[in-house]
Amino acid sequence: MTRPDHVVVLGGGLSGLVAAYRLSQGGVHVTVIEPHRLGGKLQTSVVAGRPVDETADAFLLRVPWALALCHDLELDGELISPAERTAHLFLDGARRAMPGGHVMGVPTDLDALAATGAVSAAAIDRARADLIAPADPHDPYVTGDDVAIGPYLRRRLGDEVVDRLIDPLLGGINAGDTTTMSLAAVVPQLDAAARSGDPSLIRSCLAQRERAAASGASPDAPIFATPIGGMARIIDLLLALMPGVDIRVGHGADAIERTPAGVRVTVADGSVVEADAAIVTTPAHVAGPLLASALPTVGAALTAIDHSSIAMLTMAFDGESIGDTAGASGCLVPRGEGTLVTAISYATSKWAQLRDPERGDVILRTSVGRTGDLRFADLDDAALTERVLADLDQIVGVSAAPTEVRIGRWDRSFPQYAPGHLDRIAAVQQELAATPIALAGMAVNGVGIPACVRSAEDAVARLGVTWPTRRSLST
Ligand SMILES: Cc1cc2nc3c(=O)[nH]c(=O)nc-3n(C[C@H](O)[C@H](O)[C@H](O)COP(=O)(O)OP(=O)(O)OC[C@H]3O[C@@H](n4cnc5c(N)ncnc54)[C@H](O)[C@@H]3O)c2cc1C
Repeated sequence: MTRPDHVVVLGGGLSGLVAAYRLSQGGVHVTVIEPHRLGGKLQTSVVAGRPVDETADAFLLRVPWALALCHDLELDGELISPAERTAHLFLDGARRAMPGGHVMGVPTDLDALAATGAVSAAAIDRARADLIAPADPHDPYVTGDDVAIGPYLRRRLGDEVVDRLIDPLLGGINAGDTTTMSLAAVVPQLDAAARSGDPSLIRSCLAQRERAAASGASPDAPIFATPIGGMARIIDLLLALMPGVDIRVGHGADAIERTPAGVRVTVADGSVVEADAAIVTTPAHVAGPLLASALPTVGAALTAIDHSSIAMLTMAFDGESIGDTAGASGCLVPRGEGTLVTAISYATSKWAQLRDPERGDVILRTSVGRTGDLRFADLDDAALTERVLADLDQIVGVSAAPTEVRIGRWDRSFPQYAPGHLDRIAAVQQELAATPIALAGMAVNGVGIPACVRSAEDAVARLGVTWPTRRSLST
C-alpha cells in the first residue's frame, strides 16, 4: 500500500506503543486509542518499597526482537538476568528440584530423571519406549500437520512425564492445558524436533542441544533478561521517545470501518479518528468483534480464539516467616496437586535487584487460574488471599501473615492457540494484506514480549513504513 501519513493504533499496551514508536520514527503521524492504562498487561508496581513486575518479569533472549528494542531504547546496559535458573516442582506434597537437562520439559537424560525420583520407574520405562517406537500416523513427523501438544507427547513419552513435568511447565507459562494447545504455535522448538526426521522426540531434542553446543552457544548463557526497575521502564522510555504522538487514554474503539481514504475509527466517547491506516493490537476477543463488520472472516477467526484468565498475588513477607526459597527461581505446581496455586515466582531469589539485605524480606509472585480451573474467579480478594496463603503454607511454609499484598486479576489475558493457529493467522494476514488494516499483539504468533514486539514491527513494515534502528535484528 501507499505509505500512510496518519495511522491510528488501537491499544496502548506494549505492541501498540512499539508500533506507535516505530511509526513516529518513520515520520508518520500517529493516534493511539487506549481505554484503560498505557502499558496494558505490563505493569510494574511498588511492593515493599521496590518496583516489582505484576505480570511479565522477563523476556526471552534466544530470539532477538525484545533485546533489539532495548538496544534502540538505550536500555541494554541496564538489563539483568535471573540470579537463579533452576525451578522447583511441587510433587506429591513436597518441593523438589526440577530435573535438569530438559528441552521445554522433554527429558533428554532419563537416567538423570530417574535419579530425581520425580516420576516412577514405570514412567521412565514408558518414556524410554520413545527411543524405539515408530511414529504414530497422527504425528507431525508423518502428516506434516500441527497437533495438540499433550496427545502427541503422551504418545511419545507416556502420561506421567506429561502430567508431572511437561504440563506444569508449558501449561504454566501459557495458563493453558497442553491437551488443546498447538505444538507449532506454542513450542516451535518441540515442533521442529517432532519434524526432525527421527520419530524419537528425545533423540531429536538431544540433537538440537548438540547442534546448539556445536555452534558455540554456551549452555550457561543467560536465557532471560529484564530491565532494572521493571518492565515499566520499556513503556516509560517508549512514551518519552514519542512526544509528538497523539495518545488518547480513557475510551476504547467501538468500531472500525474502511473508507475510500483508509479507515474510520469510532471511539467510545463519540469521537471519530480518520486515518490512512490502522494497526489493531487489542486482545483477539476485542479485535474480532471490532473487525467483524469490515472483515467478517478475519473477525470470526479472531473471535474464535479462546482466552484463559489468571490472578497474580504479589506478597511481601518477613524473611523468617517463610520457608526457604534460596537456590531456585520459583515453583511449578501440576494440576494433580489440587491447589489453587499454579506457580510461584520467588522474586527475591530470582532477581538480585529485588533483594534488600537490610530488611531480609521475601517477595513471592503467586499465580492462580488456568484453562479448566477458574475457581479463583468466584473468590473476593480477602477469600482469595486466604486460599493462596493456605496453599503457600503447604508448598513453601508460611508462619506469619504477609506484610503487603497486591492482587492483579487478568481476565481473558492469555490467548490459547489451538492446533492450526499459525495457518489461521496466515490466512488472516493474507486477507488483511489487501486492506489498510494490520494486526499485531498476542493473537498473532506468540504470547511473549519478543513475539509482540516482532508483530508490532512487522505490522508497521507491512504498512510500508521503515524506521532507523541501531542494530540489525540478525546480530
Ligand atoms: C500474568 C502474565 C504474566 C506474563 N509473563 C510474561 C513473561 O514473563 N514474559 C513474557 O515475555 N511475556 C509474559 N506475559 C505476556 C506479556 O505480558 C505480553 O506479551 C504483552 O504484555 C502483550 O502486550 P500487548 O500490547 O500485545 O497486549 P496488551 O498488553 O493486552 O495490550 C492491549 C491493549 O488493548 C487495549 N484495548 C482493549 N480494548 C480496546 C479497545 N476497544 N480499543 C482500543 N484498545 C483496547 C487494552 O486495554 C490493552 O491496553 C505475561 C502476561 C501475563 C498476563
